[in-house]
Amino acid sequence: MSALLPLLRTDIATGGPMPMSRYMHLCMSHPVHGYYQKADPLGAQGDFTTAPEISQLFGEMVGAWLLDVWHKLGKPAPFALVELGPGRGTLMADILRVLALDEEVAKAAQVHLVESSPALRKAQTKKLGDGLTHHETLDTLPAMPTLWIANEFFDALPTNQWVRTDKGWNARKIGLAKVGQDGEALAFGVDPTPLPAPKPSGDALPGTILEHSPAQDRMLGEIASHTLAHSGAGLIIDYGSLTPGFGDTLQAVKNHQKTDPLADPGDADLTTHVDFAHFAALLKKAGLPTITMGEQGAFLLAMGLLERAGQLGQNTPPDQQDAISLAVERLAGDAAMGKLFKVLGFASQTLQLAALQNETDPA
Ligand code: SAH
Repeated sequence: MSALLPLLRTDIATGGPMPMSRYMHLCMSHPVHGYYQKADPLGAQGDFTTAPEISQLFGEMVGAWLLDVWHKLGKPAPFALVELGPGRGTLMADILRVLALDEEVAKAAQVHLVESSPALRKAQTKKLGDGLTHHETLDTLPAMPTLWIANEFFDALPTNQWVRTDKGWNARKIGLAKVGQDGEALAFGVDPTPLPAPKPSGDALPGTILEHSPAQDRMLGEIASHTLAHSGAGLIIDYGSLTPGFGDTLQAVKNHQKTDPLADPGDADLTTHVDFAHFAALLKKAGLPTITMGEQGAFLLAMGLLERAGQLGQNTPPDQQDAISLAVERLAGDAAMGKLFKVLGFASQTLQLAALQNETDPA
C-alpha cells in the first residue's frame, strides 16, 4: 500500500480537502514518499519512457537546433546550457555529443541542470561526469546568456483543476469519501466557493473543467525574465495542445499502464497536458519578441530526422535498421508522439528559429 496515503488522510482530516496542486506536489515531491524522491522512474524497467530514452535521434535533433540558435544569437561565450528536469541525463548527453562537433560552442557551453530528485541527480552525474552544476531552483542560475531545454518537465509540475458553475469557477479538490460500511477513500469533490477564472477562459459551459498550474506560470515567468535580462533562447517540449483547451487531463502511469490518479499516491507518475497557447501568451506578455510553436513530428523532420536515421542505419545489420525505423515512427509518427507532443521555441531577439516556421500569434 502507498506509504503516502496515511499522511494524505491525516492532512485532509485536519485541513479539509486539498487543491489538486497540493496533491500532485505531495505525490511527486514529498521529501520521503514522493515519486521522484525515491528512485529512477524512467525507461523500460521504470514506469514510463520519454523521447530521449527511445532514441539518440531525439537529442541529436535538439542539439542541432541549439547549435543553430547559438549561431543566430551571435555565438555568446560563455553561455549557460540549462536543462530543466533532465531525467537520466540522456538528452543532455546526446546534445553535448552534437555540440562537441563545433569546438567553439563546446568550449563556450557551461552545463546547468535543474533537478529536484536526489536519485536522478546522481544518475545525471554518473552519465555526464562532474563538469556540471546542479540547481534545485532557477534562483541560483548564473547571470549569462542562456539556452534552455525542457522535455516532459512542465507536465510534471503541480496543476489545479476548476469547474465552471453558474457563479464562477470552483476548485476541484481531493477529499475523503465513504466506501462501504466504515471505509474511506480519496475522492474528488468541488469546493463550494466560486472564484474568478484563474486564467483567460472564454465562455465555458457549466461543468467544464479548466486546468491551471501556478507552478508552471511561475517557472515560465522566471525563464522569461532571465532570458530577457541576459539574452538567450529555449525549447519547451511536452504533451499538450497548441490551442486553448478544456477538460481533465490528469493522468497517472505505473509500470507503463494508465491507472487511477488517486489509487497509488507517491507510487505512480502524475502529469497533466501543457497548455501551449497559455505558455505563448505568458511569454509574449513578458516581452519575448520571438515565440513559435509546432508539433514534435514536424519539428524533428524539419531538423533532419530521416537523413540522420538513414546515416545511422548505414552498414548496420537489418535488425538494427528496423530498430531505427521503429524509433523514427515512435518519435515522429502521427499515431505516436509526432502529433501529441508539441514544441515551443522562444528567443530574446527577433530571429527565425529553425524547424518552427509556423509563426503563431498568441494574442
Ligand atoms: N526530461 C527527462 C525527464 C522527464 S521526467 C526526459 O525527457 O527523459 C521529469 C523530470 O523533471 C525528472 O527529472 C524530475 O525529477 C524533474 N522534476 C519534476 N519536478 C521538478 C521540479 N519542481 N524541479 C526540478 N525538477 C523537477
